[in-house]
Amino acid sequence: MRKKIVAGNWKMNKNAAEAEELMIQLLEYKKQHNTLCEVWIAPPSLYLMMAKDLFKNNEIGVFSQDMSAQDSGAYTGEISADMLKSIDADGSLIGHSERRQYHQENDKSCAVKIKKALGKGLTPVYCNGETLDQRKGGQHLDVVKTQTETALFDLSAEEIKKVVIAYEPVWAIGTGETASPEQAQEIHAHIRKIIAEKYGEEVADEISILYGGSVKPDNAKEIFSQPDIDGGLIGGAALKVEDFSKIIEGFNA
Ligand code: PEP
Repeated sequence: MRKKIVAGNWKMNKNAAEAEELMIQLLEYKKQHNTLCEVWIAPPSLYLMMAKDLFKNNEIGVFSQDMSAQDSGAYTGEISADMLKSIDADGSLIGHSERRQYHQENDKSCAVKIKKALGKGLTPVYCNGETLDQRKGGQHLDVVKTQTETALFDLSAEEIKKVVIAYEPVWAIGTGETASPEQAQEIHAHIRKIIAEKYGEEVADEISILYGGSVKPDNAKEIFSQPDIDGGLIGGAALKVEDFSKIIEGFNA
């Protein structure tokens, strides 16, 4: 059975004291509740070691928000797969729409990063999704197909099974507008079918596909109940333990 996951993307939020406080609250929550999904966070890279120190028994997965396509060297500001592995991080988000929008990320660079992450035993969370114009123009299925193929189809079957995909329609990220459960399910099933056509049903069935885009405590349960939706990548609502925990409980309800 594929993994159910609720992952929080903290983006560029919280100073060190606030980050530590939220991590401690999440850890307390996790210890006191029998969650029916894995709980992951992607704090700013500055706090990854803090997270690893606090989550001593790997209660909560620790992910970076991006990683370099390079191995090492003169790449100011970057962090490598090797560095992430050396602090025992679990993986990295790759291709988040904000990286695409502000940092020229594209599916080809994502393909390189995904391969590098897997090579170091890290879990890549590959983010994709269409823009509002592409959705309005009826191109969403084609866009997501191209994104999936370009970023993932150089992988072997064994490799792709280790990837987590986060479908995040750009128009739903941070906007308060959520894809309806039916819209999200349509794309998740579509992604799974594209993968099944190349790698077979068995492989496609093992891949967790998360939905991201304004998931909140009041819509999580319905979104997570869709057959091809295996959890969520949560932005704004991951910044408060009250909201994030209610989203996690979308699986218990
Ligand atoms: C995200 O940044 O991945 C995201 C889904 O943000 P939000 O939940 O705030 O829409």
